[in-house]
Amino acid sequence: MSSKVPMSTISPNVIDIPLVREARYYRKWDEEYLLCDLCAHYCKISEGEKGICHVRQNVQGKLYTFVYGKVVACQTAKVEKIPLFHYRPGSQSLTIATPGCNFHCSYCNNYDISVLFQETGEPVDWGCPMSPEEVVALACMTDCSSVAFSYTEPTIFYEYAHEIAEQASDAGFRILFGTNGYITEEPLKEIASCLDVANVDLKTFSDKTHRRVMGAKLQPVLDCLTQMKALGIWVEVTTPVIPTLNDSEKELRDIATFVRELGAEVPWHVVRFYPDFRLNHLPVTPAASLRRAREIGQEAGLRYVYTNISAGGEGEHTYCRLCRETLIERFGYEVRKNRLVEGCCPVCGTPVDGVDMDPAKAKQITYCAQRPGAQFVT
Ligand code: SF4
Repeated sequence: MSSKVPMSTISPNVIDIPLVREARYYRKWDEEYLLCDLCAHYCKISEGEKGICHVRQNVQGKLYTFVYGKVVACQTAKVEKIPLFHYRPGSQSLTIATPGCNFHCSYCNNYDISVLFQETGEPVDWGCPMSPEEVVALACMTDCSSVAFSYTEPTIFYEYAHEIAEQASDAGFRILFGTNGYITEEPLKEIASCLDVANVDLKTFSDKTHRRVMGAKLQPVLDCLTQMKALGIWVEVTTPVIPTLNDSEKELRDIATFVRELGAEVPWHVVRFYPDFRLNHLPVTPAASLRRAREIGQEAGLRYVYTNISAGGEGEHTYCRLCRETLIERFGYEVRKNRLVEGCCPVCGTPVDGVDMDPAKAKQITYCAQRPGAQFVT
């Protein structure tokens, strides 16, 4: 059981460094160590030391986060980019990230903002300062219907993400996570009240590979996915198909079977791997592997399996689960045609699974003074 630090007790300037906050989830382990139980690494951290994510540090017997409000990415982007295909297709999300990660994926394509500074020992003194209020105000000035936390791991900037999520959710925005699924149960339960949608990376089904390539165990990711479903969060799963690493028939079938156990309605994105960072020696995923992965997902009974073999290819579209009519046509991150009628197939009337798939019945922005031409709902 975690000893959560109540938000009200957190002093903004508890130590004399701007944008440093006391961490929410940690406890004293013994005379020497603090235990951080925000993520499944459960780091034991002695005085002056940092956790595996390198953004949480034990300073004089208290754990602090050094990335609160330090924004390294803030942009409006299509939700398809996360990727999320079953939340309000084609909509824009204000997407936020701060530095750092609790995984060390050898092929990370955001390594410059996620892990590089950890290796050089550089302090986390970069990023543009933005308060949660400023993020929500900015969201109100855009045509976004959601605020997303992605590009780096939202768990490690939990305090910041949680405050933004509460305020943005109250203002009528949906809250989206692009996550590696390593958050522990209690913080997940806490944020679940305002977390609507998550895309979770399930990068392999081998614990050995997960530890070697990601630097983390597999089981907590599986547990997190199960908990998210139980908490009513809409979940989509992404697997990069990596040649020689996770592309065997058996492993893809194991992943597909697990996703099917979560629910037939859970979308599975089997995406192309592009060599990057320390996995530069592996080739780009062949189209045939992605095609086979999609077939495996369909054979497992999943209703929606997506691939990015080619922009506009059949693996990017959404089909009716009953009559197989094409419902949503995509070209890369763009929605080219949305044929849904009130969130249903125009031919047989079957509803498509997802969140706010019918914009007319979607969650509405309730109060945004800055929103141009906003319709206020009372
Ligand atoms: S959030 Fe960071 S410090 Fe806490 S357990 Fe995870 S890696 Fe360790």
